[in-house]
Amino acid sequence: MALFGDITESLFETSGTLVALFDPQDILRRSNAAYRETYGVAANEEISWAEILRRNFEQRRGVAVATEDFEHWLTSARSRRGKSPYRAFETDVTDGRWLWMTETVSPTGWMLCIASDITELRTGERSLRQDRDSARKASQTDELTGISNRRYCMSVLQETIAKASLGEVSETCVALLDIDRFKQINDRFGHQFGDAVLIDFGKSVQRNLRPADSFGRVGGEEFLLILPQLGPAAAELLIERLFRAVGRPGSLPSQPGFHYSFSAGLTQIRPGDTLAEVYHRADAALYDAKVGGRGRQMSA
Ligand code: GH3
Ligand code: MG
Ligand code: MG
Repeated sequence: MALFGDITESLFETSGTLVALFDPQDILRRSNAAYRETYGVAANEEISWAEILRRNFEQRRGVAVATEDFEHWLTSARSRRGKSPYRAFETDVTDGRWLWMTETVSPTGWMLCIASDITELRTGERSLRQDRDSARKASQTDELTGISNRRYCMSVLQETIAKASLGEVSETCVALLDIDRFKQINDRFGHQFGDAVLIDFGKSVQRNLRPADSFGRVGGEEFLLILPQLGPAAAELLIERLFRAVGRPGSLPSQPGFHYSFSAGLTQIRPGDTLAEVYHRADAALYDAKVGGRGRQMSA
């Protein structure tokens, strides 16, 4: 066994295929030289996936990020990462290489990334494939905020409920989040500022989630949060953390003193639940949080 261990280690390190392992909080825990060289990571560096991308963007190396607004791009990329057991896609590197990246996610949220060089493969159809991929992304994304749209996060909720009824996932919580007195924000500062608040809300919440969590905009200023492998007590703590992190003064640079709050309705998926039942309970809990004074969470 020890012998195979040594061979595995040396092949792992010298392989031209990129290999990386991320933990459930999206921190890089293992990687081989090919991965580290491509994305500019030091040996044994424990860095989050978001930080790797941010660094790549700033240094114009590694992941080719074609955007003027990195944070918006990152919010959107996060909304698709780690939500299903397996995902594969083409991705390009600033040095001109094209990689076929696969992401395999364990039930506990660990992610194995493996990427191989496909620069020379089927180059003629590459732009067609890119068009297909960006059309798929657009169909899953809320254009304003960059997070998941209603259709996509409702389909994730439906899937999660189905898995829960088969006993394939352990505790999963669902929350509806709604920005408080949003109409007044629009009335006082204008619709465009209201839009900036929605964008800030999407980005700030998404930043505080694990890859396995799903987060989408389901209505004007109403958002759905799906938290797999999280019991009610841990979900409550997460939402408390969001209360502290989101909407603080300074969030919107154009109005430095402006702050905003949101309310949350939390529920746990129960065996035999339908989508309508889960949604209804979260909505009822949200209503209680509004009636109870806003800026708080209630459970049902
Ligand atoms: P509550 O605290 O009870 O949630 O009050 P509220 O004012 O937040 O809720 P209400 O449902 O009365 O108002 C929501 C407002 O959101 C009304 C609508 O004009 C505005 N809205 C919906 N979609 C958008 C959008 O995309 N951009 C902007 N700026 N406003 C939007
Ligand atoms: Mg509201
Ligand atoms: Mg609302």
